[in-house]
Amino acid sequence: MNAHDSERIKGLLEELGLGEAPSADEADVVVFNTCTIREKPDTKLAAHLAEAAARKREDPARVIAVGGCYAEAQRERIFELYPQVDVAFGPGSITHLGEWLGAGGVGVARGRFGLDERAFAAELPPHRERRFQAWVQVSMGCNSVCSYCIVPSVRGREKSRRLGDIVGEVGRLAREGVREVTLLGQNVNSYGRDLGTDFATLLRACDAVDGIERIRFTSPHPKDFRPPVIAAIAECEAVCEHVHLPLQSGSSRILKAMRRTYTRERYLALVERLRSAIPDLALGTDIIVGFPGETEEDFRATLEVVEEVGYDSAFTFVYSPRAGTEAASLPDQIPHGTKIERMERLVELTQRVAQARNAERVGRTEEVLVEGPSRSDPALLRGRTRRNTTVNFVGDAAPGELVPVRIESATSTTLRGTQHALVAA
Ligand code: SAM
Ligand code: SF4
Repeated sequence: MNAHDSERIKGLLEELGLGEAPSADEADVVVFNTCTIREKPDTKLAAHLAEAAARKREDPARVIAVGGCYAEAQRERIFELYPQVDVAFGPGSITHLGEWLGAGGVGVARGRFGLDERAFAAELPPHRERRFQAWVQVSMGCNSVCSYCIVPSVRGREKSRRLGDIVGEVGRLAREGVREVTLLGQNVNSYGRDLGTDFATLLRACDAVDGIERIRFTSPHPKDFRPPVIAAIAECEAVCEHVHLPLQSGSSRILKAMRRTYTRERYLALVERLRSAIPDLALGTDIIVGFPGETEEDFRATLEVVEEVGYDSAFTFVYSPRAGTEAASLPDQIPHGTKIERMERLVELTQRVAQARNAERVGRTEEVLVEGPSRSDPALLRGRTRRNTTVNFVGDAAPGELVPVRIESATSTTLRGTQHALVAA
């Protein structure tokens, strides 16, 4: 969602006549789009702001703006904490950034925090990194109450975007040459309840748009995978065989304390339902280690679920207490050393499991959407399979093309292969 918002911020600045500076040193206006999901991004921002302050001392006309979730969380104190900041705004008020930066000659609105009312950043012109892939915002905010999570307090209650607006955007994107869209929401599969529609209807409407070959979505919540959603994923040709299914913990006791509203058993039953409805499905997940009160037994339950499900990919996070969330004030916070030790064991397992899943692809032919040259070896091309695995391959194709690639080897994160027409008969 932050990547999407940043593209909109760039698009808006370009509309104001501002181009991208070759380096931050040369920028007249610096906009930070921040995250505050864990403590680490907060610390990184402090370092970036110190550098920006040094540049501003050389040239006080430079403007520093801070937007996004950290800004929202600190809205009462941001100008006090960082006096070098001129403009600050939350993730819901990006559409007004131009006014605050002084567009139309009104002057920069220094020291004023953005608005309370929220608007979809999706309505702004985007600056897309790739002409054939696009993010599409379907909702903002989140109505869940996961006890560790700061998102609901910084992004507000869930609000869905009108179905016609979303499908209209997808149609425009297709006409501009976009082949893959990723539908975005904090809780993407609870889309539409406030509008009397639902996520399954949205998936089917996007699938019907001519020219869109791949549809992805993130992040869904296991509680909202109702039968019509599973059926839509299975039946819509463009919807990819890849579901990100955040587990968070494999212990029902911890899941309860997290307020995730499902148990280990219900989660595993959902995995079964998804796998039997969607052949060849790839599953990703998010896992938190070291939630308050997590015992060695709870942690082992997480390892067991990882092994049992066999995830194709996993984002793993050390629990980070966030001010104002329920979990931050729970007793029994886990010592840092224990969290790190558990994290190492978890990463070792998730990599081993993902390597085994990827190894099963060797010998198959996968449809790959070409993204550009490989990052590790520019003589190779890089792209993604429908199951969302990166492939580096010998081939001859342009970014945006869909090509068949024969898979020859695998690591835990990438596949390697040769484009089909180039494979010797
Ligand atoms: N809405 C999505 C969901 O429910 O899966 C994504 C929310 S968040 C941006 C992405 C992931 O960050 C979560 O799934 C969770 O694993 C992790 N996360 C959230 N709060 C955290 C915290 N306080 N400490 C560590 N990880 C956290
Ligand atoms: Fe946070 Fe996701 Fe839970 Fe919403 S559903 S509170 S965004 S972890």
